[in-house]
Amino acid sequence: MPDTLPSTPHSTLPQPSGPSRAGLAIIGAGVSACTLAAQLRRNGQPGEAISLWEAGRGPGGRATTRRSRHDPSLAIDHGASLFNLSSQPCPEVLPLLLEQRWVEPWTEPVAILDSAGDLRAPRDDEWLLSGPCFRGRGGMENLSQGLLSLAGEIDAHFDTLVRDIDRRQDRWLLKNAAGEILSEAESLVLTGTLLAHPRSRLTFGWPAPPLQVLAERLRDPGLNHALAAIAALRFEARSTLLLRIPADEARQWEALPFRLLAFDPSAQQRWGLWRLFSQPLPRGEWAVVVHSSATFAAEHLSVYGARSAMARQLGLPPRAEEERLVMQALARSLDEVMAQWLPPRPSERGEWQLMRWGAAFPLPRGLPQALCWNSSLKLGFCGDFIDGPGFAGVEGALRSAEALARRILGPAE
Ligand SMILES: Cc1cc2nc3c(=O)[nH]c(=O)nc-3n(C[C@H](O)[C@H](O)[C@H](O)COP(=O)(O)OP(=O)(O)OC[C@H]3O[C@@H](n4cnc5c(N)ncnc54)[C@H](O)[C@@H]3O)c2cc1C
Repeated sequence: MPDTLPSTPHSTLPQPSGPSRAGLAIIGAGVSACTLAAQLRRNGQPGEAISLWEAGRGPGGRATTRRSRHDPSLAIDHGASLFNLSSQPCPEVLPLLLEQRWVEPWTEPVAILDSAGDLRAPRDDEWLLSGPCFRGRGGMENLSQGLLSLAGEIDAHFDTLVRDIDRRQDRWLLKNAAGEILSEAESLVLTGTLLAHPRSRLTFGWPAPPLQVLAERLRDPGLNHALAAIAALRFEARSTLLLRIPADEARQWEALPFRLLAFDPSAQQRWGLWRLFSQPLPRGEWAVVVHSSATFAAEHLSVYGARSAMARQLGLPPRAEEERLVMQALARSLDEVMAQWLPPRPSERGEWQLMRWGAAFPLPRGLPQALCWNSSLKLGFCGDFIDGPGFAGVEGALRSAEALARRILGPAE
């Protein structure tokens, strides 16, 4: 049981010169990727070399904790701040994570706000809040860190964008933006849709999604079917404002009747906000994370946070003035909403930052489970975009990865 959470509980193998070789390469290190690695190791592939490739600085994906490079104690859950279980049975890994104290029950007050400014308690069917709720202990990233610790030794590569995929002599090749081979593997799992969905053309200006280009050469009916279903997926975006509140103002935030404030549809329409999450920081400071509504984010889709992992990896140019305007708009809405509880906030105090989640939530219907594993190509998909219980949330990411691990380990089809 980790009392002080280690920063890297999983062991990474020494970096070989030349491409890494693995039985299985997993693209991504979010909740689904880490769950898949854990379940394969726990249930039948203890010795197989697994490599993991992640564009971000660490594990967690959309359920991670943002850390300052200058002050690692500054940790803010800027994506998912908690996760729920809307159905039973509970994912297999959860009891282990609770027992080893990587994860703990969420006990903070949650309220739902309507457009009249009134608060109510969440209902039993509230999206992402129904059933028991949990969070990573010490930060949401510890959910994924805990999963990696269950997986044991993994060849994990962070800060590494996989830009292209190829297949030669029954082996998968992962390539970086320079066309260099990062890894060769017998099996490949994609835990995001970036390399397979047409949105990469619009978002990153890529000529075509790399897996679609490859599919034209491979002519595999199963792959073509899966790619057609992935191309039909639609996503909602979120613009997220991160505020660091100085200690003298923080006490007022601490006294509020909620830590998580969710906006009902009428409130989302009025203020352009979806959720507000506040959390303590060291030295009496406070962090406030303000997530926009889907509509607000769609209207400001071209404005990404220049400090996001993808912007860094793709070398996208900063758009400081546009970012400032989006942050000001979100901060204005926040001030309006909070006026009934807090005195006016002195403007331009504390630090702020913008994140854009271009594909924050997949919209139903997701990729059918039947298309998640192609046994002839040894190619799989898992993540919250897979159809099933908990779709579009951490629960879906956990469940889809457990289901894929069972398919991979199951009898040959
Ligand atoms: C603002 C926000 C709030 C949320 N709130 C909640 C909530 O309250 N409750 C809840 O249950 N869920 C919530 N979610 C959703 C939840 O975060 C996701 O459902 C879950 O984290 C998905 O995990 P995943 O592993 O499927 O995908 P991801 O977390 O997206 O993991 C995929 C990973 O793959 C990496 N990747 C993709 N392509 C490449 C590539 N080519 N090369 C290298 N790396 C790559 C990405 O960087 C990413 O880290 C929220 C999401 C957002 C954005």
